Amino acid sequence: MPHRLSYTDPHQLSSDQMTHAYQRAGESFMLAALVGGALAASLATEVPLLHVLAWLAFHLLTNAGHALLGRRLRAQDPRGRVGANLSQLMLVTGASGLSWGATVVFLPGLSAPLQQLVILLPTAIGVASMTRLAALPSVQAAYTAAVFLPMLIGLAVVFGSAYWALITAIALIWGALTLEARRAHQQVVALYSAQQSLEDKAVRDKLTGVPNRRAFDAAFEREWNRASRLKAPLSVIMIDVDFFKKYNDHYGHQAGDTCLAAVAKALSAACRRQTDLLARYGGEEFVALLFHTPRDDALRIGESLRAAVEKLQLEHVANTTGVVTISLGGATCLPTPEHSAQALLESADAALYRAKENGRNRVEWAQI
Ligand code: GH3
Ligand code: MG
Ligand code: MG
Repeated sequence: MPHRLSYTDPHQLSSDQMTHAYQRAGESFMLAALVGGALAASLATEVPLLHVLAWLAFHLLTNAGHALLGRRLRAQDPRGRVGANLSQLMLVTGASGLSWGATVVFLPGLSAPLQQLVILLPTAIGVASMTRLAALPSVQAAYTAAVFLPMLIGLAVVFGSAYWALITAIALIWGALTLEARRAHQQVVALYSAQQSLEDKAVRDKLTGVPNRRAFDAAFEREWNRASRLKAPLSVIMIDVDFFKKYNDHYGHQAGDTCLAAVAKALSAACRRQTDLLARYGGEEFVALLFHTPRDDALRIGESLRAAVEKLQLEHVANTTGVVTISLGGATCLPTPEHSAQALLESADAALYRAKENGRNRVEWAQI
């Protein structure tokens, strides 16, 4: 979702993996076509042309399908789509691997040099797929199985025990590849998580754990543009803790910090829609950004935020209510190029000022 701060997002990871695996889909296809064409030309010297052409057609079709699907998924902003398309991807990638594995059917009729070529080439192709597909382990497993399994079975059937050493060697290569691919994948995940946790630190407020001002500014700009594109109402609520200076004076700054963290937690919990963002705006001020939320709904959310903090029943003897409360000022608008995002914030701020004037622990809404 647009600004949830979940940084172990598996979809985002899948998206990066797709980018890695298919950034050169076109080049991979050209290479497969070139090597396939060269192999077909060699085979044609000893195998009926029709058989070779049938194989080449299968080879080109499956490899083109693989490249096109990979490219399409990537171009679609693959966030969240890789999971849904994984079986499709495995099938198409498996088919393109099978075109290499299938060359084994030519083995019986070939001379020794061409037999070696038909064994060596698919093995090399299977090995070469490692760096590209390691980011998507199940796709890589489907691909290598499609290359190696038919080859191993073919070798065993055609040559039987005479070629046991070769059969074992190829099986070992396959096994080692699978292990290596898994290791490479774990490394990608570890690196990615480390990077995500760094980014997380940059946008999260240390004291309260909620998104910080920087995260809010970025989300606000993004959501403003999105809302004006979709002609959807956008609401923003400014939140300020009542008589917080007195709280600090009475209970000490340390207790003030603990109080702010508790307030932030309650506000976050009350703002739980995927498209809501609750951020610390600065000091004892928070802000809620509510996407696609008309005035009445936003007002209700504001009221539930107010109630959530009151319900904490944190003692605050210097407050008129005796417990910690907040004042809220909200504003809603349908963003257009004529409106400015800044004006929306200022309206909410003016409403907050009125909430303070009118006795605090209340929600006021701006007229715009
Ligand atoms: P009002 O009801 O009008 O908002 O009164 P107020 O006292 O809350 O308003 P004012 O803006 O005068 O004071 C805000 C106080 O919040 C002052 C500042 O010391 C305190 N504050 C801001 N950030 C922090 C923080 O991170 N930790 C603590 N403990 N206090 C903070
Ligand atoms: Mg304040
Ligand atoms: Mg205050």
